[in-house]
Amino acid sequence: MADKHMTIVRNGRVLDINGHRAPLADILIKGDTIAEVGPPGLAAPDDASMLDATDRLIHPGLINAHTHGHGNLSKGMGDRWTLELLLTAAPWISGNRSAEDKYLTTYIGALEMLMKGCTACYDLTVEFPQPTPEGLGACGKAYADAGLRAVVAPMVASHTFYEAIPGLLDVLPAGLQRDVERLKLAPFEASIAAMRQVLSDWCFDRELVCPAVAPTIPHHCSDEFMVACAQLAREFGVGLHTHVQESKAQVIVGLKKYGKTPTAHLQDIGLLGPDFVAAHGVWLDADDIQRLSDHGASVAHNPGSNMLLGNGIAAVRTMLDRKLNVGIGTDGASCCDNQNMYESLRVAAYGSNARGPDTDRWLKSEEILHAATAGSARALGFADKLGRIAKGYKADLVFLDLSHVNWIPCNDPTNQLVHTEDGSAVHSVMVGGKMRVVNRRPLGVDLSALAKKAEATRERLSALNASNKVLFERLQGLVNGFCPGLAKTPYHIDRLAAHYAR
Ligand SMILES: [Zn+2]
Repeated sequence: MADKHMTIVRNGRVLDINGHRAPLADILIKGDTIAEVGPPGLAAPDDASMLDATDRLIHPGLINAHTHGHGNLSKGMGDRWTLELLLTAAPWISGNRSAEDKYLTTYIGALEMLMKGCTACYDLTVEFPQPTPEGLGACGKAYADAGLRAVVAPMVASHTFYEAIPGLLDVLPAGLQRDVERLKLAPFEASIAAMRQVLSDWCFDRELVCPAVAPTIPHHCSDEFMVACAQLAREFGVGLHTHVQESKAQVIVGLKKYGKTPTAHLQDIGLLGPDFVAAHGVWLDADDIQRLSDHGASVAHNPGSNMLLGNGIAAVRTMLDRKLNVGIGTDGASCCDNQNMYESLRVAAYGSNARGPDTDRWLKSEEILHAATAGSARALGFADKLGRIAKGYKADLVFLDLSHVNWIPCNDPTNQLVHTEDGSAVHSVMVGGKMRVVNRRPLGVDLSALAKKAEATRERLSALNASNKVLFERLQGLVNGFCPGLAKTPYHIDRLAAHYAR
């Protein structure tokens, strides 16, 4: 039977994003849902529990529109990596994981997100050579145990990175060609069958941990495979998420392979729709943005990752001009080496400003906060349940300590959330009416025991993946010579100019 326990949150200041203010207001919660928001003294049943939020700024939980749970055991393993070098490093930094390791890496990230004011995420997780019910069950259980809402999508492909980039295999010596051969993925029918089983047997409460489907990158997938993924997602009514035009090399490969941009191709084969999320979209042109908007799709904007990997800065102002829904994410901890959504807010602002001096084109702090709450909620498929503090929405709330130095003084809560807060003022976090973080600590979690377990796992995986590390070291110079070269294709000079003129 559903929990109908009532809680009344009193004396807190509730953020009004558009109003740039945070008036005193009370919040009545029934079970996991907000029943009423009203002025101080809001009526509540006698048996309701009272939560005193004096000196707290309450904002809707931030929602991470794009991450990779498998990255949390790999944080800090790379420096000066492009996206293509990160993909080359994958067998080393994410290889040989047991189901228990998959649980651990996901759980660490879930705790980090909660402790840094995030209450839901879209996780594209990976298993080699194909997804398994045990692996996805481990990821789902990690989120359920931590109490973070998540959409969990197995990231699948039919081609390896080396098969996906035309000409790359040809620059590898014969010995290395044989070595990368053994990275082969499962036949696509096997991946589809495994995902079908996962979607049929999903045992978690879908309002807390929901499955989805993630063909990883269009040119890593045959058209037949992409279409099969979309059919599967639509048959089960779940989300569809893929990396789209993230790096310049990707868009050039797409143009070579399809004779059009990857987004134009995805439209032609029927992938785009309101359930579709394009991660990154750094190299979308104006027509691509319009295509995504016309189909009611979303973009997951990950400005920290885009800068770290040297991919550039997405044209978010153009996306908003074209009424394209934008959510904000961190990306995985292996390419944006923490899971701090407050940093993503700030980097989203800085990135928009760094495109040029025309302040009319800069993102406003309220636009960034809407993207990281309601925008991300829509990308996750929870548009009418998450991302707002309002009647009928889930009680996913963050309580910031207004006596923390970040808030001394509080001049403008909307601006300060984007430009000042860094996660250190997060005092408490509630997900679905349940407190998950109190007084800066995740409830019921022994962080030092977790650290010991992670260290033992790190050592074991480091030994298991030693040969994959050697393989990466042999490949990195060749990949790094080839892919940036690809990205210098002269065809794109005009497109490049047009990109930066927007
Ligand atoms: Zn990603």
